[in-house]
Amino acid sequence: MTCKCGAIYEVIETKGPSRDESSFKCVLCNKELISWTGSNVSQFHLIKTPEPDRE
Ligand SMILES: [Zn+2]
Repeated sequence: MTCKCGAIYEVIETKGPSRDESSFKCVLCNKELISWTGSNVSQFHLIKTPEPDRE
């Protein structure tokens, strides 16, 4: 999943106990990327940031 700001997230879908609505916001721009309901819970791991690595 790629955010508008350029951040790339790895999405891991897991099935857990039923929960209320959940949503995920980009940790960089704080924009809501996705929301869901029900028992399918997704986890998101930031794997790439918009800014290139500098060495
Ligand atoms: Zn973002």
